[in-house]
Amino acid sequence: MKKKEDIAVLMASTECYPMAKVGGMADVVGSLPKYLAHLGVSPSVIMPRYARPWFDKNPGKIIHDSIIQYPHAHHPFRIWQHEDSDLGYELYSVELPGLFDRESVYLAEDGHGYRDETIRNISFQRAILQWWHSDPDSFDLIHCHDHMTGLIPFLMKYSYEYPALRQKPSYFTIHNALHRGRCSWNNLSLLPHFDTWKGGLLDWDEAIDPLASALRVSDGINTVSPGYLEELPREAQGLEWVFAHERHKMSGIINGVDYDVWNPKTDTLLPHHLKKSIHSFKRKNKAELTASFAEPDLPLFVFIGRFAHQKGVDILIQSIDTWLNHHRDANFFILGSGDKSLEHLAGMVYGKYPQSVRVVFDYNEPLSHVLYAGADFLLMPSRVEPCGLNQMFSMRYGTVPIVNHTGGLKDTVPDITVDGNGLSFDGVQTDQVLNALQRAMELFSDQKSYKALVEKIYKLDFSWEASAKRYVDAYKQLL
Ligand code: ADP
Repeated sequence: MKKKEDIAVLMASTECYPMAKVGGMADVVGSLPKYLAHLGVSPSVIMPRYARPWFDKNPGKIIHDSIIQYPHAHHPFRIWQHEDSDLGYELYSVELPGLFDRESVYLAEDGHGYRDETIRNISFQRAILQWWHSDPDSFDLIHCHDHMTGLIPFLMKYSYEYPALRQKPSYFTIHNALHRGRCSWNNLSLLPHFDTWKGGLLDWDEAIDPLASALRVSDGINTVSPGYLEELPREAQGLEWVFAHERHKMSGIINGVDYDVWNPKTDTLLPHHLKKSIHSFKRKNKAELTASFAEPDLPLFVFIGRFAHQKGVDILIQSIDTWLNHHRDANFFILGSGDKSLEHLAGMVYGKYPQSVRVVFDYNEPLSHVLYAGADFLLMPSRVEPCGLNQMFSMRYGTVPIVNHTGGLKDTVPDITVDGNGLSFDGVQTDQVLNALQRAMELFSDQKSYKALVEKIYKLDFSWEASAKRYVDAYKQLL
């Protein structure tokens, strides 16, 4: 129930769990608002209305019906309100026929990004602003997530179409700066009229660059971990200068875990729940995974994630191949999909060692939960990891993370040699991963130390409590 003094925040995102999830951004947008709601914030989320089962089951009601005016065409859109859901925040969806009535969020059937990404993102953002402008007092500020909503801060301030939003603050969260949504200036006519003197704020390197624009124009910004914030001014694919220049309005706020979903005692996607002992919880869930292929007493290493260069999947597969070529004392379970050449590599290692390796090329939420619960170790050789949630989910379920020392992994997984939570290595090369595997095997063979570590990590606090307060402080500063 909204109180008068609550800060009304509109979160704009192309992903939100459980409606549509591709990665960690969906987890964040689907959980942070619930926690903000206890801290004097009245949170709302607005997202595209995809052709996804959640929207069939929760159709909602139409509260706004309008058109976006392009120079040679009109694009109709409708805003739906989903009042009856028990999400813990208000949800609105933007229906844009022909653009978002697809099941896949970003990728076409050929595995590449949709070719109409630019008009999709611009239409989504224009629809949000048009709707908000029809009742500007409904929200105190907007909180945008990644480049897909990165033009909103600029359009609010400098477009002639939304004068009533000019004084409203915008806040921007960077979940992943590797993707920027760049498009050629030929797309200029898709944008509403704006103060052309300010056009430079849209440009980076002779293209419209939504991420670069959001960095310069948003009133407040955060990255999803302090470690990532530190790295960006040194390494940001050409945007280093912008990150350094805008540093004064940026902070690093580590993501939290939604404990309503990720609870070993109640997780509805697990076959076995935590009762008295974390070790028997893990043993039972592990048996579900190894039943079809592996020896349950051997350590089980898992990887869950997008098959992308960023995630170090190439080095991971090469390391597994080398390891199994010399030893047969460990099992590996890989869940993920994406880059076809990486899928091919993973398929080859599975073909070579079917008794020790399982690969599932899929996005499979239920299986991922069983893997977090049943594994002994989680591998995350990410080259770049803005925050990373997998390592936190795994620790919550007593699985020891093995990570590259980067971004949010650096913040959440100090090495056991410094009384930390897992194994950390420095640099994504096969030697480093093999060395980490060796250390993991030694740890596992010393069951007393291994079990003590499991008992320590599953009790660590990765909840949203502290981080949600930091977002509220950031909103208050802007108001
Ligand atoms: P990113 O957002 O870069 O993909 P994160 O670690 O922040 O990485 O979040 C990944 C999220 O996506 C986690 O919730 C993880 O469990 C989930 N995930 C990734 N790949 C899969 C998959 N193949 N099946 C199920 N869940 C997955």
